[in-house]
Amino acid sequence: MSKVSEEQIAQWDLIDPLADKRQLFKLPEKGVYLDGNSLGPMPFSAAERAKEVLERQWANDLITSWNKHSWIDLPTTVGEKIAPLIGAGPGQVICCDSTSINLFKVLSSALSLQPSRSVVLSLAGNFPTDLYMVEGVASLLGEDACHLNLVSEDGLEDALTSEVAVLMLTQVDFRSGRLLDMQRITQKAHEQGILVIWDLAHSAGALPVRLDDCEVDFAVGCGYKYLNGGPGAPAFVYVATHLQSRVTQPLKGWMGHKQPFAFSQSYAQSQSITQFLCGTPSVVSMSVLDAALTVFNDVDMQQVREKSEALGELFIALVEEEEKLADLKLESPKAPQARGSQLAFSHEHAHGICQALIDKGVIADFRAPNILRFGLTPLYLRYQDIQDSVQTLTHIMEQKIYLQAQFNVHHKVT
Ligand SMILES: *Cc1c(COP(=O)(O)O)cnc(C)c1O
Repeated sequence: MSKVSEEQIAQWDLIDPLADKRQLFKLPEKGVYLDGNSLGPMPFSAAERAKEVLERQWANDLITSWNKHSWIDLPTTVGEKIAPLIGAGPGQVICCDSTSINLFKVLSSALSLQPSRSVVLSLAGNFPTDLYMVEGVASLLGEDACHLNLVSEDGLEDALTSEVAVLMLTQVDFRSGRLLDMQRITQKAHEQGILVIWDLAHSAGALPVRLDDCEVDFAVGCGYKYLNGGPGAPAFVYVATHLQSRVTQPLKGWMGHKQPFAFSQSYAQSQSITQFLCGTPSVVSMSVLDAALTVFNDVDMQQVREKSEALGELFIALVEEEEKLADLKLESPKAPQARGSQLAFSHEHAHGICQALIDKGVIADFRAPNILRFGLTPLYLRYQDIQDSVQTLTHIMEQKIYLQAQFNVHHKVT
């Protein structure tokens, strides 16, 4: 890209088909929020619903709200709202628990379908909780039944052998933003009889996902990142229809029973996706997520993707044309089609730079050991915001503000 002009940036904002979505969110008055990949900002619809659920439903209607306000159906209704964003037809997505817990359910389910195989294959560098959950399943079932094998991305296709029971991958790498080819990898795995679990933590709401078209077996993902469901919002789980009656997930809570209110003494699993429920849904959080999802009404995920790529290309071009930013090394793939909706740059002072950015109102995050991460969220970011952020970054680098002691205090959450 040749040097980008102010006029060009203003023009992009003017013709942006998603521009009017920004008003649906509560955003900082000054500064730029580049951390929607970790915690989406609050849609106004979410705050309204929280008030409604607490002050009207719970306060006035008490327990009758389970029926009167359909609290009991929330896992299903929210699941069905998430489904079109991830390319899932009806009856395959349910909202519940956390991503970690849902990983446990799908890992156990997938392994139970592969009694003669034990290897769970994943990539080195996958998000820790995904790998820890495999360790947990292995400690319950024994290494003979569950054994984690980690390979590098280059070695992935060669490692898809008939020994492998389950392939568990995160579509968009949480550090680098590298995007895997879901269709190709799922197909290659299936050719070897391997079941596939995709973690969509950094995909759902960020880019078009085609679970059904890719014939994915299982998927999980987060409600609080690009879906803007609020801190600790419940997660979701996808199980392909043809597998639902063949598996029994081991967290046999009463909500997964085919007749929870029959209060039978023995477990009889639901034959549908509701089998993946465990206990009582977190009504307040799930209602908030439900309301937050309305921001995706009429949104074409292809448009989101195009804008996300354009924001990323602009960010990179502005960094590249600024000499003072020469020490920042792009750790994300250069090709926009090979990235999710975030950018990673490495720098030995990444932590201090991130703290200094936050102090100046540009909220990014730091990932150990040396990554500065910027989430690009097309529903509420403007091209102008990218320019402002790179200007602030330039100022911090030029003045070496990141060396100041106050920016080198490490907090619990980075
Ligand atoms: C954010 C993230 C999670 C989070 O799991 P929780 O159980 O919600 O804490 C899991 N996997 C990946 C890849 C993530 O990026």
